[in-house]
Amino acid sequence: MLATAYADTQGSIDKESITKSYQKLNKYGGDLSRNRQDANFDVVVVGSISESLKNIKAWSQTSTFLSMAFNQTDHEYGQVCKLEEVVASAQAIFNEKIEFYRSYYGYELTELNLGYASDSDVENPCKEVAAGEIVLNYIRVPQKINLDSYDVIAFHIYDNDYHSGGFQGYLQAGDGVTQGDEKVFDKTFFVSGATDFNQSQKVRYPDFDEKVLADYYTQQQVELTEFEQQTAHELIHAFGLSTHDCGLDHYSDVDFSNLESVLLGNNYANFSYGDWFSVMGASSYSVDLAPSSKEYLGWVNSNQIHTIESDQTSVEINEAYSNDGLFYAKIKVEQGWLYVSYYNGNSYGESLMHPKLSGNLEGIQIRYTESRDPEVFKTLTTSVLLDPNADLTDHDYALKPGYSFSLYGVTIDNVVITGESAVFDVRYSN
Ligand SMILES: [Zn+2]
Repeated sequence: MLATAYADTQGSIDKESITKSYQKLNKYGGDLSRNRQDANFDVVVVGSISESLKNIKAWSQTSTFLSMAFNQTDHEYGQVCKLEEVVASAQAIFNEKIEFYRSYYGYELTELNLGYASDSDVENPCKEVAAGEIVLNYIRVPQKINLDSYDVIAFHIYDNDYHSGGFQGYLQAGDGVTQGDEKVFDKTFFVSGATDFNQSQKVRYPDFDEKVLADYYTQQQVELTEFEQQTAHELIHAFGLSTHDCGLDHYSDVDFSNLESVLLGNNYANFSYGDWFSVMGASSYSVDLAPSSKEYLGWVNSNQIHTIESDQTSVEINEAYSNDGLFYAKIKVEQGWLYVSYYNGNSYGESLMHPKLSGNLEGIQIRYTESRDPEVFKTLTTSVLLDPNADLTDHDYALKPGYSFSLYGVTIDNVVITGESAVFDVRYSN
């Protein structure tokens, strides 16, 4: 894979620091995949893009007319989106605002904000686009790079004033990345934004305090920074996992009495990135990956997973980072599987030693996963972290000894935790 860094004028990124990040990511991927995932990479830093990030930011703020523009294969966005009219109108409104702010507040507006296009009377047919997507149109890949030798191209855009979110995609004929006079297409790529801050800031527990996950690491874990976490997320998309590791929505009422149909309703918005233990989820408690996502990527194989389709007592799984034996169980249910795992605070699970999270070490985690058909579920959620105690406001997602959990006619109970492994029973009601 090829990692290229583009910097605006103040970008302080250099080849050494991005190479270091990729070396960390390589080890992290090796750890999570038990050395099944190996990504070789070349890092090239090619300086600034051919348009100022200031303009790109201003354009993205117009928020209503650029996305269609950049989706047009011929880039005749001026016509499609009435660019001339809309920008002129936004500029005029902005100029009025400058006067208004100066005379009423004594404040100088300095950065052009074309977001005022939304106040314009000019009707425009185009929709929002992220700055990162616009940036793609101004990336010039140096001639010396032989793109045929790379499966994935990563673009890192450095700007300390603006943090573009990451995204992954497939370069198509209409996209604007070029090499010489040629467009670059038929390439998997991803973009992640970077600032001096997120490049050095280690991954924190954003839900409840400013501590970092690595505060609890005593082993050989990679201490991911926020930039590296975002890059890992996009990289895993580029490896072929198009979905996210989701959960039950923390912020809205989930009807637990109706959970089965809620899950099958497949409402992406309800579940968002809600797996707190996964780098493809919120990454808030640890930077693991959901069991079914690892299985999908080939990072665990079938002889490391108990497959259960009828009543079974004393099912034993080793802790989630164990290198031997079976460490996950998957239980067949309607239209999918329940995946069971157990953290004992080993490896990247050490971050669960945080006093507010240690309850997660006292039981087993359960996730519902639809049958993974990449054609059918391409854009939908698959793994959903469940909550045995049905309290989404606490930080506890473990089914503990003495409790039982039932879903789709399957009951899991008689949980016993030994420290190295977890044991439980599975019963089908019909
Ligand atoms: Zn994503």
